[in-house]
Amino acid sequence: MTRPRLMIPGPIEFTDEVMAAMARPTPSHVDPAFIDIFGQALEDLRKVFLAGPDYQPFILAGSGTLAMDSAVANLVETGDRVMVVGTGYFSQRMADIVRRYGGEVTLLDAPPGETITPEQLRGALARDAYELVTITHVDTSTGVLTDVRGLTAVAKDAGALVIVDGVCAAAAEEMRQEDWGVDVYLTASQKAIGVPPGLGLLVISPMAKTRWLGRTHPVGSYYSDWGYWLPIMEAYEARKASYFATPAVNLVMALAVSLRQILDEGMENVFERHVRLSNAVKAGVAAMGLGQVPTDMAHAAHTLTCPRYPEGIDASFLKFVREEGAILAGGLHPAIKGEYFRIGHMGAVSRSDVMTALAAVEAGLRRAGYAVEPGVALAAAQAELA
Ligand SMILES: *Cc1c(COP(=O)(O)O)cnc(C)c1O
Repeated sequence: MTRPRLMIPGPIEFTDEVMAAMARPTPSHVDPAFIDIFGQALEDLRKVFLAGPDYQPFILAGSGTLAMDSAVANLVETGDRVMVVGTGYFSQRMADIVRRYGGEVTLLDAPPGETITPEQLRGALARDAYELVTITHVDTSTGVLTDVRGLTAVAKDAGALVIVDGVCAAAAEEMRQEDWGVDVYLTASQKAIGVPPGLGLLVISPMAKTRWLGRTHPVGSYYSDWGYWLPIMEAYEARKASYFATPAVNLVMALAVSLRQILDEGMENVFERHVRLSNAVKAGVAAMGLGQVPTDMAHAAHTLTCPRYPEGIDASFLKFVREEGAILAGGLHPAIKGEYFRIGHMGAVSRSDVMTALAAVEAGLRRAGYAVEPGVALAAAQAELA
């Protein structure tokens, strides 16, 4: 029995070992064996983000949006000035969350497909004082990769704390949280972390914790309040029982397996594999004569590819692609939604997944009436991988 490969920008294909952890009998959340698994997952999350022992990880039941909510609810107070680096749909969501918690948003917005450079951010920050800067590492709606290292350096120079939405980047794109000075790096389980949807993950710096401790008003969200969660995370890491709200036990067990698999491969190897496979996909897409949403491959993500439809093709062709073996996603950015589609290639993605996706796109395009010579994308991808 074959099923099409799920190659959207999350959820993705998960490893057999991760799925086996999901299928195990659910233990009590205070079972000593589970406490140890949770503690190990916290330690490993820090390692995957390349953060030191004084950085605090949180594993929460919820999606990536909950992780965003958690960062903002705890770090933003009414009247705080927040610079939102805008590279697409999810940067807009971050701006909405900041406003919901009383922050004053300045949006430094790039046109779809463009990025914001550290120089542009430096110029924008010079005009006023900002408590916080938010950055989307990879905006899933445009496939744009931001220069988190450069942007963070500029933001820190200006005295701001930095929150990075790494939902479509963590455990795939190069990220060195401590070296780069990122105060909050956050993600969700179902993207490159490689676990079914349902966990929001954050790691916060000592400076973020200090800022949170210095708040003058209570956190405006009950569930997101780090005041409840910090003691729980500390307890699990110390291998002690504790309870605030029931953790997503099977998801945490699956997370522990996936983080181990990622660390066994090694972070440098993980980053390199994503670059290599992404280059192969992009070469294949170009060989079929399709453009891409990012205006320059120097700022294109390595976790997904956003090809533009050729003349005469629209989202209806994706059903042919599915029949040919790969489930891909349509456009998401409201301004260009009907102009492009998205191929996710993150997490435990392999060379054969990438070949399957390209072969399915070739065949799908032909069935939709666009002339592609059979094998051109595959040949270009193979040449890239050789
Ligand atoms: C998917 C995604 C989110 C939202 O995550 P959910 O789990 O759907 O809530 C936020 N930011 C980025 C960059 C994403 O790719």
